[in-house]
Amino acid sequence: MESPMHSKRKIIKMSPRKPVYEGKAKQLFEGPEPGTLIQHFKDDATAFNNVKKGTINGKGVLNNRISEYLMLRLQDMGIPTHFIRTLNMREQLIKAVQIVPLEIIIRNYAAGSFAKRFGVVEGKALGHPLIEYCYKNDALGDPFVTEEHIFAFGWASPQEMDEIRMYAFRINDFLSGLFMGVGIRLVDFKLEFGRLQENDREQIILADEISPDNCRLWDAKTGHKLDKDRFRQDLGNIEDAYREVARRLGVLPQSDKAEGSYVIQVNAKAPKSKKSKAKAKTTAKKRK
Ligand code: C5P
Repeated sequence: MESPMHSKRKIIKMSPRKPVYEGKAKQLFEGPEPGTLIQHFKDDATAFNNVKKGTINGKGVLNNRISEYLMLRLQDMGIPTHFIRTLNMREQLIKAVQIVPLEIIIRNYAAGSFAKRFGVVEGKALGHPLIEYCYKNDALGDPFVTEEHIFAFGWASPQEMDEIRMYAFRINDFLSGLFMGVGIRLVDFKLEFGRLQENDREQIILADEISPDNCRLWDAKTGHKLDKDRFRQDLGNIEDAYREVARRLGVLPQSDKAEGSYVIQVNAKAPKSKKSKAKAKTTAKKRK
């Protein structure tokens, strides 16, 4: 027989969330209020336009944290973003926008496709930050385009591009300083923007995410890669690299801190040479 307590218990049926879009590393669901979406960060990783596929354990959790932190810092300095609030370990509530179909790439140092295209060594400092645009189209392999293409195809207006360029360089200035403060060099990164319709007004705002998935982040001292290039180039220690970025930004989840299973080499002290060990001994003797 059922106890009175049991008979009183209500069964709350959770209605399944309506998926809106599924990308390579994220999924979007309908949000609780009109004009909102839920952005879910997955552990899936892809590279070279989906040719290479894999899973980076815990990446979704870390990217959710890192992106939240960076979006909030950018909001603090007046950059409008789609971020509203974090919902849980893997999800954040965002404003629904119409995505401008462009990948905005800012480069401070030569790396990746740029280094290949121009035959320069990775890490070469560029005279000034460069902006490049790609048309967001997987089937075409996201081709590089110029503003001429953008205007001819009507992907964005000249006024919108002025705003996007201005925001992209301000974001670069701010993030370069923020990362340098935690010993990381911001080599390059990709941004996406969207159109937000509010009170009969259309506004360009920052969308997508900012994380080691779409930034090249190198340890400032050693050049150790702390981003998705570890996956692209099979360098190993991918999870450690993402955790290290979160740790330095001060947003590493508690459970990860307790884990303590990762010791990334960039933080390890260089082993002392025989010579320096001997020197240390004599100094210690002298002190005695
Ligand atoms: O590959 P490439 O050198 O052009 O990438 C430049 C920057 O843009 C890198 O930080 C890379 O992670 C990012 N990117 C991205 N998504 C793409 C292409 C590039 O996040 N589809």
